[in-house]
Amino acid sequence: MMKVGVLGAGQLGRMLALAGHPLGLDLVFVDPAPGSPAGALASQSVHGYDDPRAVAALSTCDVVTYEFENVPEKAVRQLEQSVRVMPSVEALAVAQDRLREKTTFHELGIPSARFAAAQTVGEFDAAVKQIGFPCVAKTRRLGYDGKGQMVLRSGREAAAAWKALGSTALIVEQLVPFERELSIIAVRGRYGVTRFYPLVQNEHRNGILHISRAPAAVTPQLQATAEDYARRLLERFTYVGVLTLELFQVDGALLANEIAPRVHNSGHWTIEGAVTSQFENHLRAVVGLPLGETTALCPSAMINLIGEIPEASRLLELPDTHLHLYGKAARPGRKLGHVTVRAPDAQRLEASIAAVIAAL
Ligand code: AMP
Repeated sequence: MMKVGVLGAGQLGRMLALAGHPLGLDLVFVDPAPGSPAGALASQSVHGYDDPRAVAALSTCDVVTYEFENVPEKAVRQLEQSVRVMPSVEALAVAQDRLREKTTFHELGIPSARFAAAQTVGEFDAAVKQIGFPCVAKTRRLGYDGKGQMVLRSGREAAAAWKALGSTALIVEQLVPFERELSIIAVRGRYGVTRFYPLVQNEHRNGILHISRAPAAVTPQLQATAEDYARRLLERFTYVGVLTLELFQVDGALLANEIAPRVHNSGHWTIEGAVTSQFENHLRAVVGLPLGETTALCPSAMINLIGEIPEASRLLELPDTHLHLYGKAARPGRKLGHVTVRAPDAQRLEASIAAVIAAL
């Protein structure tokens, strides 16, 4: 039985575990938080990522991957001495640093919002001046779900931002007046085969993903452009596994926002909505199995369950509605689960989304 080590044991890990079982894969998780969502389904080493006991648990694996992107780069480099790690640590390191991420887009000819970097308050003032208002200041590291970032519309807001964001290295980006947010999930196998899921349209609420609709209504050209950008990233990193690229659509063009070197919330619809889920394809990629088809089966939408767990029976009486709970305790702003709905056409999908939201 192939053994796959996973750094991080949150809901993404849990869904990897669910996808790994039918393939006969043995998944082993490392996460310092006890009682994590994946730990309920597979073995979990409850230690820090660089703890020798975690390293020992992982060194017997055929391959190690991650579902959490803020694993310290040093710990992964150390792990690489004893076991194969996929995707490459370079992809992880770039995704952890918004400046390196934007610089990589630039080097690969992938358009993104104009940006400037700042290490000091003086450089921050200069960066804001260079980009102009409105802009977004973001910490280079450890931001997620809209945390570690502030929209700045005036000199007064900018004056408060440096301290409010922790007097740490930042990047300042132009605030993009996007028409919509899209993401593309790509997967590259060990032997270089690459597949792309259809573009997904994402709607955020309070900085957290609220709804993903797939496939997004886009022209074939837009899909081809997104695939081209994702392919450049996959090739740059000789990537193995699932990579997510988040994009803004502005005036018909695509601007890259960020990458995630892992399975992604905007790909949860693929469990019921695509021929092969992102979780299964990630595992197939890292263990060297052929990749599965990424075609969408029908229009689908994923609605996140944030902060509260709704009554299951109210949701499950709705047609073609699928509930996923992550086994987490309820807390405001926390992702506790998601619902996927499928429909024969886009119009009926909207009616199904409305019915799910009414049942929450
Ligand atoms: P991020 O953490 O970079 O994914 O940002 C979280 C959310 O903030 C994005 O999904 C957008 O809705 C918004 N956002 C981030 N950067 C920008 C930007 N440069 N222009 C407009 N909206 C942004």
